[in-house]
Amino acid sequence: MSVVPQRLLPDTASVSGNGMLSIGGCEVEQLATEHGTPLFVYDEVHLRNRASEAVEAFGTDRVIYATKAFLCGAMARLAHDEGLMLDVATGGELYAVRHAGVPGERCVMHGNNKSVDELRFAVEEGVRHIVVDSFDEIDKLEYLHTVGQSTPRVQVRITPGVHVHTHEFVQTGQDDSKFGFNLRNGDAMRAIDRLSKSRAIDLVGIHCHIGSNVFAAENFAKASEVMVDLFNSLDVPELTLGGGLGVAYTSDETAPTITQWANVLKGAASTLRAGSHVFVEPGRSIVASAAITLYQVGTVKHIEGIRTYIAVDGGMSDNPRPVLYGSGYEIFDPKRAHSDRTEVARIVGKHCESGDILINEAAVPPHVAVGDLLATPVTGAYGYSMGTNYNKVPRPAIVFVRDGKSRVVVRRETYADLVRLDS
Ligand SMILES: *Cc1c(COP(=O)(O)O)cnc(C)c1O
Repeated sequence: MSVVPQRLLPDTASVSGNGMLSIGGCEVEQLATEHGTPLFVYDEVHLRNRASEAVEAFGTDRVIYATKAFLCGAMARLAHDEGLMLDVATGGELYAVRHAGVPGERCVMHGNNKSVDELRFAVEEGVRHIVVDSFDEIDKLEYLHTVGQSTPRVQVRITPGVHVHTHEFVQTGQDDSKFGFNLRNGDAMRAIDRLSKSRAIDLVGIHCHIGSNVFAAENFAKASEVMVDLFNSLDVPELTLGGGLGVAYTSDETAPTITQWANVLKGAASTLRAGSHVFVEPGRSIVASAAITLYQVGTVKHIEGIRTYIAVDGGMSDNPRPVLYGSGYEIFDPKRAHSDRTEVARIVGKHCESGDILINEAAVPPHVAVGDLLATPVTGAYGYSMGTNYNKVPRPAIVFVRDGKSRVVVRRETYADLVRLDS
């Protein structure tokens, strides 16, 4: 394997003549020395570039960043600054975003099982709209109205399964989902009917989540057409073509750019009734390739005739995606980023699980040794946010880098943090 391609690295990544990787003008070795490892390094310019690419395509307040991909105060403020709205799926995410100072009206509330308390919180904070997911949730919103809460704007989440099968472009199983109202069995129309008659709720639109980590632009075109047809048969002003633009994690993957994806969706939306508004919900495509994770090698174990295990100082607690989804990643030595990766090793973490594997068969440069740094690119989405404290391993720090400066936006957890909730 040759070097990791530039397209998997953050926008401002550069490699000096001696092979040292810098991001945001900061040499990664320096970042590791200053902040320790494991370390999430986010390129702030990259985050802003992707956000503004999406906003340029769809307009301010039309792009709703799915915060579950990566959320901390600095990210919430950055997204808000760049004209993104923020999708929160729990009371906790709403709390974090409000705590960061983002106004409630820039938030959209999602979730398949919102509690009465979460819904009350969302209504009190004046979220832009709530995406209603079940008849039970409609009951809860009507209850809240009877106890004096104001009337929320809502969109209805729809699983357009039957149309998906008709168009033969998304795998089966769309009807069989915990999310949304089923179109084929009539639930979606029953929900729309009930909401449009309710005085407690202001129905403003319909929503669908097209897919997750989708790579082929034409899938968006077909799925969007289905929703556009349904939308045109209804009398509501808003349509959300939510979610799903994939990103490339490895050298052999490619994904559409945000601009290419936007052009497909805009093409599909070109037949919308006049006066309608389209929202989109990118999550990972804003943040995934903005970050790398820096690790330090702790052991290198050659098992003659079997394989080499390289253990780093993190693992499934900072990146659970390989264990959860079997996702692939690349890894390289950021101090010799120009080195061809001519050897193969299994990259494992420090957790007490044989399954704690970051990369099953990684291409690595020759002679990786204890104390070396290793970097996995494209770890900006669903790494920190899905991370855990398994084995009481403190969570890594997160730094944003820009113009030669790094700032800690989430500090590293301490041992004291690990026992903070004990009573
Ligand atoms: C998670 C989610 C997204 C974002 O998905 P990505 O794959 O991260 O782009 C968008 N919309 C909804 C409703 C989601 O739950």
